[in-house]
Amino acid sequence: MVKDNVIEVCGLTKRFGAFTAVDGISFAVARGEIFGFLGANGAGKTTAMRMLCGLSYPTDGRGSVAGYDVMTQGEQIKRYIGYMSQRFSLYEELTVKENMELFGGIYGMRRSEIRHRTDELLQQIEFAAHAGERVGRLPLGWRQKLAFMVAMIHKPEIVFLDEPTGGVDPITRRQFWTLIRHAATAGTTIFVTTHYMDEAAFCDRVSIMVDGRIKALDTPASLMQQMQARNMNEVFVKLCR
Ligand code: ATP
Repeated sequence: MVKDNVIEVCGLTKRFGAFTAVDGISFAVARGEIFGFLGANGAGKTTAMRMLCGLSYPTDGRGSVAGYDVMTQGEQIKRYIGYMSQRFSLYEELTVKENMELFGGIYGMRRSEIRHRTDELLQQIEFAAHAGERVGRLPLGWRQKLAFMVAMIHKPEIVFLDEPTGGVDPITRRQFWTLIRHAATAGTTIFVTTHYMDEAAFCDRVSIMVDGRIKALDTPASLMQQMQARNMNEVFVKLCR
């Protein structure tokens, strides 16, 4: 069976002056896959992710996201993806529902469509009763779950999550990963960065980036076997030290 790849990159490179932040990375991600994009601080993950999201143009290499060229079609890419940035991205002064309406509008959705989707997503996280609450008053874990739902409002083909569970407690992190798995099962491709190695084990495949290059890419089980490691933390330490 031919795999339906929604992300394909070859030799993708980003230079800032003389400094190479992303150094010729190549990989493909299949539809519905949960792809973990790991690396130490400063490895180049966010820079690579921004190129895939059409937010920054590559210096070199080629690739496509949702069928669009990362070199020339950044605007088209943005329509087919959701992006949850490292920094909290919702408007704290607005209510949950108002945030949903705002972002749905930005994605060009009709009002009725936004209403329907808001109800659906808030029910999914059992938060419908809080639709009228101001986002700034909510605990971090809820805000992160909402930011994920907002990134999904327009039913994107691919969702990019940049450290979505940073600073969140272990129970909420578990719930967050249940939501991620649910979205992937429904056909959304998940491209996720994390610093929590227990979370890496929830990914279908994981790539580990060191100094701008992909040093390993495989399923968590294969990586542990190849590196003779008991867990993903050990894999990470062996590759990154
Ligand atoms: P973290 O986990 O800390 O977010 P990261 O893997 O996402 O790290 P990047 O933010 O992609 O790493 O940064 C990779 C390297 O590129 C870093 O050394 C960073 O200082 C550098 N860098 C990022 N953006 C720029 C820029 N606009 N100009 C110059 N250097 C940059």
